[in-house]
Amino acid sequence: MELLPRLSSRDSALWVKRDDQTSLRYGGNKVRKLERLLSEAKRRGVARIVTIGAVGSHHVLATGVYARPLGIEVEAVLVPQPRTPHVVMNLRADLAQGVKVLPATSFAHAGVRVASRLGRDAYFIPVGGSNRLGALGYVDAARELAAQVRAGQMPEPDLVVVTLGSGGTAAGLAAGLLEEMQTVVLGVTVSDPAWVVEHMGRSLAHACLKHATHREGRAAKVEPRLEWDRRYLGRGYGQATPEGERAMAVAAESGLTLDPTYTAKTFAAALDRVAAGKHKTILYWHTLSSAPFEPLLIDAPEEAAIGPELAKLFR
Ligand SMILES: *Cc1c(COP(=O)(O)O)cnc(C)c1O
Repeated sequence: MELLPRLSSRDSALWVKRDDQTSLRYGGNKVRKLERLLSEAKRRGVARIVTIGAVGSHHVLATGVYARPLGIEVEAVLVPQPRTPHVVMNLRADLAQGVKVLPATSFAHAGVRVASRLGRDAYFIPVGGSNRLGALGYVDAARELAAQVRAGQMPEPDLVVVTLGSGGTAAGLAAGLLEEMQTVVLGVTVSDPAWVVEHMGRSLAHACLKHATHREGRAAKVEPRLEWDRRYLGRGYGQATPEGERAMAVAAESGLTLDPTYTAKTFAAALDRVAAGKHKTILYWHTLSSAPFEPLLIDAPEEAAIGPELAKLFR
């Protein structure tokens, strides 16, 4: 964690959890989920992973980066999203990692394509790596934070601000922190329909909690410790907002690089909470990889060479 002194106020200190540094090859939040998910795929001895995402998915790219060295092929069913240079780069990097891309026109169509690829030799990972096992990677992260707080590396946060994309990250954090501290987790909704992802977040948090408290046999209540804010979504998933763009500029001055789809909207919410001054210690959880991208583009096709079928994935 790091304190951001220039962005803190007298009433609220703003800290950042640097999950952009979870790995030197490719960091961000997907690494913690894949730690659990890929161990399971390995334990099952599968030859393939079948997964799904939008064309710029960090989850698909991270799966490509980390599954290949384990000798597991990755097949990704991808759906369209608005075209940005970052999204184009992610698809090129997917192809460079040897990810087999199966284009779909919508998430409904994607379901059909996924179903046609499942089989005994395949392990299915849902959108964003957000099933219970993936979210448990963020229960691990919550315990790590609690240990760091106990070690005196930062005060106990009153509020953790984190992106709510497919829900696994916020869910695992809320479930994990419930046992350890008084912290409230605020999920900033960046995908739509908002009520669907918020529902996913809540049910994943319940699933994590049930798993974590299984042996004690008691059911703690996660609701008061997991909140949403959908006011930063703008026109929808992958659509930049003015608040997000302002937050990106502010973060850059403190040495943090944000992306318009996830972290810019979330950081905008964190800055507003600091301005409101109701929480003494606010922790912004930074989920975007900051590892150098060029190595992931070695062997990547140029954009002009990706073909008309895949080019349709850019809206
Ligand atoms: C996937 C992703 C998220 C969202 O995490 P979920 O667990 O899907 O809610 C946030 N930030 C970045 C940079 C991501 O790639």
